[in-house]
Formats: sequence, structure tokens, C-alpha cells
Amino acid sequence: MNIRRIATEEAFVTDEIFQEWKKAAGSRFAEPGFRILSDTIYGGDTPAAQVIYSKLTDLGAQRIAQMDADGIDFSILSIAAPGVQVSDAVTATQLAMNANDVLAEAVSRNPSRLAGLATVAPQFPKGAAKELERAAGSLGMKGFLINSHTKNEYLDDHKFLEIFEAAQALDMPFYLHPREPSPSLVGPMMDYGLYFAGWGFGVETGTHVMRLIMSGLFDRFPQLRVAIGHLGEGIPYFLDRIDNRYLLQVKIGATPKLNRLPSEYFRDNFIVTTSGMTSVPSLKLCIEVLGADRIMFAADYPFESAHEAVEFLDTADISEDDRKKIYTTNAESFFKLS
Ligand code: MN
Repeated sequence: MNIRRIATEEAFVTDEIFQEWKKAAGSRFAEPGFRILSDTIYGGDTPAAQVIYSKLTDLGAQRIAQMDADGIDFSILSIAAPGVQVSDAVTATQLAMNANDVLAEAVSRNPSRLAGLATVAPQFPKGAAKELERAAGSLGMKGFLINSHTKNEYLDDHKFLEIFEAAQALDMPFYLHPREPSPSLVGPMMDYGLYFAGWGFGVETGTHVMRLIMSGLFDRFPQLRVAIGHLGEGIPYFLDRIDNRYLLQVKIGATPKLNRLPSEYFRDNFIVTTSGMTSVPSLKLCIEVLGADRIMFAADYPFESAHEAVEFLDTADISEDDRKKIYTTNAESFFKLS
């Protein structure tokens, strides 16, 4: 197929962050969701964990060869969940800066194939805002990514405002990526593997998106641009009902009135990606509800098969115009790729 495939949610990790995860998961204060994730996916010396580790830490030949094999022309790389968000503020800030240096170096070796989103540590908002300046400037990052909650806190809290202030000032897109549900949310999802990517990650991230919208963040920063994965983390399906019940909640004084309807922020400030999703009906719902201009392709390598992601979007019965927007042009303009 003669189309440039740009994958927008592709994961990597540095060895030092991976080691930090093992330490954090082993602590008696470990968050319950993160502890299971670590035990089952990242931890131990199982062959599966070793394969994931090797793919996540490779930013060179192995990754480019896999992109070639899968038909991915360009990958936008970002830190794997939970990134630096299980560490203390000082450690997290340092780990994030080092990860950004490693990523920028990898991108500079393959600029025609790779770009990067910066990692920041929300635990130290001032440091995160400063790192965004470095990322947008000398490091040439195309945006930044945060893995949902940080130590049970969500980004609508006022203490994080300076991160978004910097993001809007620098016009740096923000990717809100899933992770396991926060300690407050994970309780009933501790059984049956519900905390994981089939359900819990979307509940966590969709809830996070709703907190950002309902807090009035986009009245304060109307130019803020946010990407979310998994075809919108369930929100496109609920969009009308969200508006409808929001109006009732405003009427009874349960939530402050925003300048616009929740769905208007979702349509204007957000863009969704196909990461982890290979359902044509779900894709069509997003095209109908949001429009093909608000959807980008993502494979979520190495957690998902990029081959399957490509097969899905190559063969979905959508118009060739829409396919080109989703594979190529939306990502080029959203991340300002030259
Ligand atoms: Mn992902």
C-alpha cells in the first residue's frame, strides 16, 4: 500500500527506569495495581518478560528492522507505563531527563524513522515545566507523555497547572497514556485481571480525561492539545450522555458550569489513536462521532502486534481519504513533523 504509516504510541524504556520499577514493585508501599503489573508483565526472569525488556530498551537496529517487517514508516516513541511515576520526585526528575537524553540521541541516529515524546515527572511540577522547555528546544521532542495517575493523583489538581501552562506556551502536545488504575480506583479490579489493559487501563484513563475536562482545564488553556489512545478510552461511545448528564449536574449545583459542553472540548482539544484497537465497528463509531480528522494510527509496539495493527487499518472498509488522514496527515500536523 502506497501510504506513509506513522505509528504514534510506540513504547521504549531505559534500563535504569526498568530497574527502578523492580525496586518500586518490591517495596512494601507498592501500589496494588503496579505490583500485579510488575509481577506478571515486567518482573521475574520469565522468557516473556525478557522479550519485552529487550524490545523496550532497543532504540536502534532491532526496532528499525521490526518496523520494516511490519510496514511502519515512522514511529513516535514514548516512555512505557508507568514511566517515572512510581519514583520519588528527585529520582523521577533525574530519570526523566536521562530518558529524554537517550531518546533524543536515538532519534538523531534515525531522524527519518523516529521522533520522540518527552518524559516528565509530575511529582515535581516546576521541574517538569522546565524539562518541557528543554524537550521542545534542544532535544527536538514533538510533545510529552504522562502515564495517567501519579501516586494516586490526577492532573486536574491545581499543583499541576504549571505543566499545562508550559505545554500551551510551547505548543507541545500532551499524550495522556494509560497505566493500571490508581489505588483509589483499583479495588474491584484486583480480581480476574480486570485491572489490566482489557478493562482497567481504559477506566483509569477515561476517568482521568473526564477529570481534566470537568475541572475547566480547557477553559484555562483553550489551546492545549491532548492525544489519547484506544480510540478514546471509551469516551466517544458515551459522548452524548456525558453532555446530557453534565447539564443536569450543573442544574442541581453538583458541578461548576464550563464555558462549553464537555463534548466540545473532547472534539476540539483531543485527538484519539488506534493503539491496541483492531475493531472496525469501533473505528467507524469514532469516524462518525469525532470525524476522521481526529484519529491517528498507533500500534503500541512492543505490547501489541504492529503487524496486526497495520493489517487492521490497511483492510478496514473506510474511504481512502480517511485512511490517509489516520495513517499520515493527522499525525504530521498534530506533532508538526516536517
Ligand atoms: Mn501504549
